[in-house]
Amino acid sequence: MLDRNNELTAWDRDHFFHPSTHMGMHARGETPTRVIAGGEGVYITDVNGRTSLDAFAGLYCVNVGYGRQKIADAIAEQAKNLAYYHAYVGHGTEASITLSKMIIDRAPQGMSRVYFGLSGSDANETNIKLIWYYNNILGRPDKKKIISRWRGYHGSGVMTGSLTGLALFHNAFDLPRAPILHTEAPYYFRRPDRSMDEEQFSQYCADKLEDMILAEGPETIAAFIGEPILGTGGIVPPPKGYWQKIQVVLDRYDILLIADEVVTGFGRLGTMFGSDHYGMKPDLITIAKGLTSAYAPLSGTIVSDKVWQVLVQGSDELGAIGHGWTYSSHPICAAAGIANLELIDELGLVENAGVTGAYFRKQLAEAVGDHVHVGEVRGDGMMAAVEFVEDRDDRRFFDVGRKIGPQVAAALAERGVIGRAMPQGDILGFAPPLCLSREEADVVVKAAAAAIEEVFAR
Ligand code: PLP
Repeated sequence: MLDRNNELTAWDRDHFFHPSTHMGMHARGETPTRVIAGGEGVYITDVNGRTSLDAFAGLYCVNVGYGRQKIADAIAEQAKNLAYYHAYVGHGTEASITLSKMIIDRAPQGMSRVYFGLSGSDANETNIKLIWYYNNILGRPDKKKIISRWRGYHGSGVMTGSLTGLALFHNAFDLPRAPILHTEAPYYFRRPDRSMDEEQFSQYCADKLEDMILAEGPETIAAFIGEPILGTGGIVPPPKGYWQKIQVVLDRYDILLIADEVVTGFGRLGTMFGSDHYGMKPDLITIAKGLTSAYAPLSGTIVSDKVWQVLVQGSDELGAIGHGWTYSSHPICAAAGIANLELIDELGLVENAGVTGAYFRKQLAEAVGDHVHVGEVRGDGMMAAVEFVEDRDDRRFFDVGRKIGPQVAAALAERGVIGRAMPQGDILGFAPPLCLSREEADVVVKAAAAAIEEVFAR
């Protein structure tokens, strides 16, 4: 076994190009290789037999937890009966058609159709193309710019990496590309003027958006994209009234809203969709992770009736839409999606995300909220974050070079719990599987408190 592990580690260093990894350090063996071999419930086990409680559900995607036989069986059955057929020129499979119906049944009001992809990134690429297409059909060739937010995360393709508002995803890639713009992040803890209350800060964000629209010319702005709650940008719930105030501005200038629900779709906030949770009125919704709980790669763009009617109108003039992926609505992935959505209902996981999520966040705030270097404990549903500061009173942040967030995440991992050092700021993030129990939440909280103590005692 040891030989096998050593062999895997050597092959990993020599041949595997890892995403989001320091290439030089990894190739030189200065960062650890961890080979994951199995998973059950909220736990994963590596090839050395070491088990960890995965309090980030992979990349906030394994929502039903690991080792679900029902989904594995559905995948195997579909692979045996029909491993693949495409969806071009009106073709479908029982799985893909059934899943699209199940999604629309669960989606916010006014949603009409699902276009399937494989990743959150490609689904957002589809959104951009559909929005441009839509405005061309409507005879508005200049209405093409898309406004995103600083700290938003929408993928790492050419256009979706541009939508993403994190420097790490732009640097040295020549991103962002036109016509993508970024406006204020709705990050109350980091508001520019600390005397603002939440409603005032929401109004400030809406005003900033409106200023940008007017400066660019409303006739040039096609859409606004946002995650209901900022995810990778720091797990930041919107301040009070934010989405309502943003919606007023968008309606005023006939600008579409894309709700990127890759993280929040299918239950993470304790509601089926984050749009319903915060009262957003999206025209397009991006889904991925929770759709299959990552048992198979599948994403989607949910198109509202309003947008769909225009696309249909355009097709009589433009013909078949020139947009398609070979693996769109792949039947094996769709079968995984059906089993996953059924399981979410059977196990009451949307409700558990709300109830156990609230318990988890309360326990976390009680355990670490008063620490001198904890600036804020925040979250919603089954998402939580602890943000570290050098000085609480004047909200002074640590120098990035000190890597406080990564140090805490590493100390937590030593204790057998996986959290995530969010990429911008010293922020420890949690997004456990939606099946987390209270006892498991207690394990995470206890380990987090100990890890924080250890790092600041150094
Ligand atoms: N949108 C959001 C909100 C995400 O969190 C992510 C990934 O974390 C994406 C899009 C991109 O999804 P993918 O990594 O599947 O391309």
